[in-house]
Amino acid sequence: MSTPNEPVSNPPPAPSDFIRDIVAAHVAEKKYPKIVTRFPPEPNGYLHIGHPKSICLNFGIAREFGGVCNLRMDDTNPTKEDVEYVDSIIEDVNWLIAGWADKNLGLTKDSKPFYASDYFDQIYEFAIALIKKGKAFVCDMMPDQMDEYRRLGKASPFRDRSVEENLDLFTRMKAGEFPDGGRVLRAKIIVDAPNIWLRDPLLYRIKRADHHQTGGKWCIYPMYDFAHCLSDYLEGITHSICTLEFEVHRPLYDWILENLDLPRALPKQYEFAKLIPSHTIVSKRKLISLVQDKIVTGWDDPRMPTISGIRRRGVTAEALRRFAIGAGVTKFISLTDMAVFEQIIREDLNKRALRRLAVLRPIKVVITNFPEGKVEELDAVNNPEDESAGKRKIPFSRELFIERDDFQEIPPPKFFRLKPGGEVRLKYAYIIKCDEVVKDAAGNITELRCTADLDSKSGGATSARKVKGTIHWVSAAHALDAEVRLYDRLFTEAEPEKDGRDFKSVLNPRSLEVLTAKLEPSLKDARPEVRYQFERIGYFTLDKDSNSQKLIFNRTITLKDTWAKEAQKS
Ligand code: ATP
Ligand code: MG
Repeated sequence: MSTPNEPVSNPPPAPSDFIRDIVAAHVAEKKYPKIVTRFPPEPNGYLHIGHPKSICLNFGIAREFGGVCNLRMDDTNPTKEDVEYVDSIIEDVNWLIAGWADKNLGLTKDSKPFYASDYFDQIYEFAIALIKKGKAFVCDMMPDQMDEYRRLGKASPFRDRSVEENLDLFTRMKAGEFPDGGRVLRAKIIVDAPNIWLRDPLLYRIKRADHHQTGGKWCIYPMYDFAHCLSDYLEGITHSICTLEFEVHRPLYDWILENLDLPRALPKQYEFAKLIPSHTIVSKRKLISLVQDKIVTGWDDPRMPTISGIRRRGVTAEALRRFAIGAGVTKFISLTDMAVFEQIIREDLNKRALRRLAVLRPIKVVITNFPEGKVEELDAVNNPEDESAGKRKIPFSRELFIERDDFQEIPPPKFFRLKPGGEVRLKYAYIIKCDEVVKDAAGNITELRCTADLDSKSGGATSARKVKGTIHWVSAAHALDAEVRLYDRLFTEAEPEKDGRDFKSVLNPRSLEVLTAKLEPSLKDARPEVRYQFERIGYFTLDKDSNSQKLIFNRTITLKDTWAKEAQKS
């Protein structure tokens, strides 16, 4: 039997796109000895559903062109960053690329990912070099005033300080002689450039904060724009691929590198449009607030659009890669329908999930013509999509549970499940007929008394007899109790923030429903990495909080798209 968590297949090679075309041309002309890309998250939150697009693009290019992709922590802002985030990013990236592009992961000498903070000494020296060339100056203006001057395109009164004075002040900034925010180092470019990023932008600021990697060593930190291009250069990156919002920063990226007389080939920046799925948000700052406000149980709550939440929900890395790659690489900003992702998840799980019987909202059925105490072991296929998954035995006995919804006392027209006097097939078992509905004093149905056609199971004399409906069931005496968490989309609206709306006002009140379900006994051996289909219900996976005392299953996705129907109704 194959292991259901084995990759079914890797996604087909990504179709070419404008960035791959550029790389292919560079490879053809042998512009670089090796293609080196990077994925540079800032460790100020967990990776979200948009990041796999960037991960799959950068690692995909390395994979397709025989290159390397570095995972780099872009950690220049100590106050917002944390080792918890660093650790989660490493885990999530490794999970996503395992078996696909893990061979293309670039690592440092000691087998660690890269950190911009590892270059703080070198970046400081580059700042000194710019000062010495008269291309950077220390500015004493207060932040608000500096912003105002930059907006107006006015020169700072400190712009023409001598190289000696700048060197002295910058060294003293580093030595901790000035208060936080008291002085900054700025590039000396063009005070009224049409591109605001060239209006003498900030390179260094004073910030007394312990850094998760460098501790208390520094009280000055380089700005993102200064650190990023230099980190790329130091790592020998050839193609620095990022999202569109950095397009306006590109002239600054080039300016810094070009003004330092660097001996090796310079990296070049290329931009593409972000992946923005519907019915979700992709901003770490906003995701943090869902965690802090306890709207979810944590970053890896299975409703969170984070890689760790998606993983915990039971989605495979392969399905997530398929989605990220399938979104395509362009310069056009657009919304990708969440239904596309959900359909990919269904197709992926359909191929690998083991079929099991589970009753979420049970009602008791007594088969009056089946002997008390008798247990029959019936054959059930594990996966009709994969013969090698084999068969298993499920116990059948006189008392069963079926789904409450599968019985209607006063059925609507075309109701082909169980009804008084009606017949239905029990999956893998007999055709049964409902003879009697038993109720309690309050009128609630407590039991259905049925008779089975004992010749109607597979191989029996009447097994070919057709009835319109087939329903699932579990043997009452053998059933396992399990907590089942039914997860659904976190937001009811395609664009939670449309027209400036507060995204918390469109949270889906039904994003989680918790039930105690009845499961077929073979699920006591369920393993976390195995995917299951509870027949007729959906795809499920064991939750990490599950243990032998208490089984917990997460619903990854329903069998059918229930949202499309809703959308049609409204
Ligand atoms: P946020 O705004 O949520 O903080 P970010 O862009 O600041 O996200 P980073 O950690 O800087 O997050 O992102 C790391 C890399 O991933 C960057 O190169 C960025 O361009 C890319 N990226 C971020 N969001 C997306 C997205 N939605 N789709 C594709 N790539 C993305
Ligand atoms: Mg960013």
